[in-house]
Amino acid sequence: METILTPEQRVERARLAASTRWNKRFDWEMAPLDECKTMLADLRSEAERGGLILQRRMSVERVTDANCYNPTCNKPIDIASGRFAGSRSRINNDTGLMETAYACSAACFLYLSSNFTHSPGAKREPVIAPEMVNNEPAKPSI
Ligand SMILES: [Zn+2]
Repeated sequence: METILTPEQRVERARLAASTRWNKRFDWEMAPLDECKTMLADLRSEAERGGLILQRRMSVERVTDANCYNPTCNKPIDIASGRFAGSRSRINNDTGLMETAYACSAACFLYLSSNFTHSPGAKREPVIAPEMVNNEPAKPSI
């Protein structure tokens, strides 16, 4: 059975789904601190577990083919046979996972080398007034 929704009904359904999802979220503002700490510890442990499992799966389920990194080429490459000019790997700062790009020829590898760069880490805040920075050791308050 197929139901056909009007665009308005679709929007209304999406709104209801979104608000239901948001209402189910943990109330970090109002929940007791102990409950928040427990919740945060659970989330961290789940994230670590997911990261480890994903890392293992990605190393087991190896990629056997890819397309050339050069967008003007984009030729399919059989990685397993080792017939490619070169590759570069980097850690994706957003996911924390390793990503690799391949090039089919020396010309494409030149393109890859200059364009597949490491994303810059978070920039430090500049010290605006160095004389305002407190470098004194903390004094015991007792
Ligand atoms: Zn290529």
